[in-house]
Amino acid sequence: MKKISTKINISILAVVITVLTFVGAILIVNMTVDYHRDFEKTVLPLLEDGAVSQIDSVDKAKNYLDNKSQQLCNTSVKDYYIFLNGNIVKSSASGGIIEKSAVLNKGLLGEFAVTDSITDKIICCAKPLENGILIYIVDTKRELLDGIYEISFLFLQALIIGIGLALLLSFIISKRLTASLKKLEYGAKRMSKGEFEKIEIKTADEVGSLCRVFNEMGSQIQDDFNTLKQAETSRKEFVANVSHELKTPLTVIKSYSQTLCNTQVDSDTQKKFLTVIDSEVDRMTDIVSQLLKISRLEQKITANEKIDLFKICTDIADTLKFEADKKGIEITVNGKGETKADFDKTVTVITNLLTNAVKYSKQGGRVIISVKDNSVSVWDNGIGIDKEDLKHVFERFYRTDKARSRQTGGSGLGLAIALECAKAMNARITVQSEINEYTKFELIYDEH
Ligand code: ADP
Repeated sequence: MKKISTKINISILAVVITVLTFVGAILIVNMTVDYHRDFEKTVLPLLEDGAVSQIDSVDKAKNYLDNKSQQLCNTSVKDYYIFLNGNIVKSSASGGIIEKSAVLNKGLLGEFAVTDSITDKIICCAKPLENGILIYIVDTKRELLDGIYEISFLFLQALIIGIGLALLLSFIISKRLTASLKKLEYGAKRMSKGEFEKIEIKTADEVGSLCRVFNEMGSQIQDDFNTLKQAETSRKEFVANVSHELKTPLTVIKSYSQTLCNTQVDSDTQKKFLTVIDSEVDRMTDIVSQLLKISRLEQKITANEKIDLFKICTDIADTLKFEADKKGIEITVNGKGETKADFDKTVTVITNLLTNAVKYSKQGGRVIISVKDNSVSVWDNGIGIDKEDLKHVFERFYRTDKARSRQTGGSGLGLAIALECAKAMNARITVQSEINEYTKFELIYDEH
């Protein structure tokens, strides 16, 4: 049995048939029990009457029963038989053969007996009297059988109508149910081809919630898929960037060393060339060590220790004093603050922000570090960053002015490293800037 709709049809039909049969059976049993009770209620009072015990002849018995015939046949037709010494002598039945029964046998043996099982073909009662007389009353259950026949016919009609209705109902239900399931199947097939399409949810039942879960699963897979695609794109970009960054110093080294090998140059020029080669090698070493730092950051566990932000800032400012003095830049550290974070990563972030502030400040500029609980901001009144560039400054190898940055020794990795560190500590870095006016980077530790 393949189709769900067929299964539903069969189930509904089975329910309808079972219910109707069960109700019919209960009705028939109740009718039969009532019929038997009715017999007892009618016949027994007549035979237990005081007048019956005084009957001593067949004629008296016949008279008594004839007088009571209306009462006897009140609800159903009953025949009486009067036996004398085991032979039928009088009867209300017009001919026919009397069926043998256990009740009659007991009566003939002088015992009072009544039918006690509702499954018996007839209901009867035997009452032995004086002088070998026996009154035997029989109900052939004709009225009951007629009733049962009528009821069965009615039930058969109800069954036919019920089956018709059930077929219609099951057709509607299965159509609605399988419509959602078909959509689900269609969605799953498309998903297997990498096409994510939301399924329209029409019902609030289990199939509806299955569709909802399916949709959620679809968007989750799509998100993961997009993230993977993005990661793949940025990995490719990263490899291209690294290659490009290393290619420039390598080209310089190659051309200078070739010149040194192939041309006769004086010792001054030789020294100049070697200095260039040396500084390009330093540059490459710097790039590689920064890249290693980023990859280590991605794996390293982050500590959560109590750190004094003011002390960290003043210590870093001291180490940069020489560079700042060269450009006549004044560094000020304000405020105070303590937080729980990773000491090394905090030092890396602030060092990178402060180095940039000094690096990108003009001669005689100002750098102000403001410390608060859970945040450190580094402000400078240097060259500033263009609005367009602001969106990209945290990307690896991004530099607003490649030529100038190369001159200042920038690799475009400092802010990327700072951001990785902040993320690892559950912190953020915000940036605000106006070109040629100011730049403010802020490290904010979110609640942890
Ligand atoms: P770099 O090693 O080139 O300094 P960073 O990742 O530290 O790399 O910075 C990326 C770019 O953001 C820099 O090249 C520079 O153009 C810009 N930048 C960073 N800090 C500042 C600042 N304080 N003022 C102006 N420009 C800045």
